[in-house]
Amino acid sequence: MPDELDTAVPIVNAPAIPVVAAEADPAGTGQPWSAVSYVNLRAEDKVREVPVSRETSIGADLYEALQEDLAYEAQSPDVSRETSFDTPIAREAMQAVKVRNVRQQTWPPPPQRRIITVANQKGGVGKTTSAVNVAMALALHGLRVLLIDLDPQGNASTALGVEHTAGTPSVYDVLLGGMTLAEVAVPVEAAPLLRCVPATIDLAGADIELASQVAREHRLRRALAAYADRVDYVIIDCPPALGLLTLNALVAAREIFIPIQCEYYALEGLAQLLNTVDLVKSQLNESLEVSTVLLTMYDSRTRLADQVADEVREHFGDRVIKAVIPRNVRVSEAPGYGQTVITYDPGSRGAVSYLDAARELAERGAATS
Ligand code: ADP
Ligand code: MG
Repeated sequence: MPDELDTAVPIVNAPAIPVVAAEADPAGTGQPWSAVSYVNLRAEDKVREVPVSRETSIGADLYEALQEDLAYEAQSPDVSRETSFDTPIAREAMQAVKVRNVRQQTWPPPPQRRIITVANQKGGVGKTTSAVNVAMALALHGLRVLLIDLDPQGNASTALGVEHTAGTPSVYDVLLGGMTLAEVAVPVEAAPLLRCVPATIDLAGADIELASQVAREHRLRRALAAYADRVDYVIIDCPPALGLLTLNALVAAREIFIPIQCEYYALEGLAQLLNTVDLVKSQLNESLEVSTVLLTMYDSRTRLADQVADEVREHFGDRVIKAVIPRNVRVSEAPGYGQTVITYDPGSRGAVSYLDAARELAERGAATS
């Protein structure tokens, strides 16, 4: 920590209690964080100065958050958020509390295996990021998860630290080579309950190769029907196209999970996706439903993001997950280390919001299906 921070640092609207809040049981209730009233951590008791020195117990996360706070204030002095966590430091403090308890909880298992396809034919909207982080979050909370990477780019395999060089047994061998999912699925080091079916560059030609095969749209569905291992969730990460690979995923799943990026062209192309879903539903898989919509890369400082969020909520109603994923640099750094953001930086806003989103998904599934 640099020396200049040895002196008191003025922070407008920062909570008085970041260090206290970082303790496992800030309210002294003897309860885990979920039972601790969030009010304890709100920035309602505002102070204008937070003394910071090398002697305090502020950790790297909080230090980083502090810097983020300062940058935040400098950039937008008159930004006022109505939310409880006015500044990054307030959020980080609360996240620190949550993170310590990440692995102590278990979430309810669904009554039957849930097969969820993460689809949106637009590229770069957060499909892969959502697929791997939701999968990791579920697996760290006692649920058995199989993640199927169905994109030739193999980004989900990368993010889970799974080998996927050309020739590695992969989903290609399942769709076109007669192998079973059980034969190609590999364990993910960070989470004992998570397995990944990798995708390699071999998959790049699969759309064309599949075209001439019998039952070309049903191959993944059949492979999943033959996958006998106990699994609570199957999460399928689709490529950014509505070709035969995505079609296989839509035929195999009961649920579609659509990540929507909070930006201007977000809704463009959605109609096409929904038409495809209707077509699949009427011709190939009548149990298919759009069950979940997740708002990703949300920037609370832009009015546009709010407009997109409102529009999406208007259209999809309660299928939209309440937790919104913010744009967060830790999320984009994580794959570079072969990790999800949840393992790479569990205290980051990106990780915490993915944990919230996954928990909501798990709780809804347990209650309704
Ligand atoms: P898709 O699978 O839809 O193509 P990705 O999940 O690969 O999209 O995301 C596209 C890019 O945006 C990636 O580089 C990813 O790391 C980055 N990204 C995704 N979500 C976030 C986020 N919440 N904050 C910052 N960067 C993100
Ligand atoms: Mg992707």
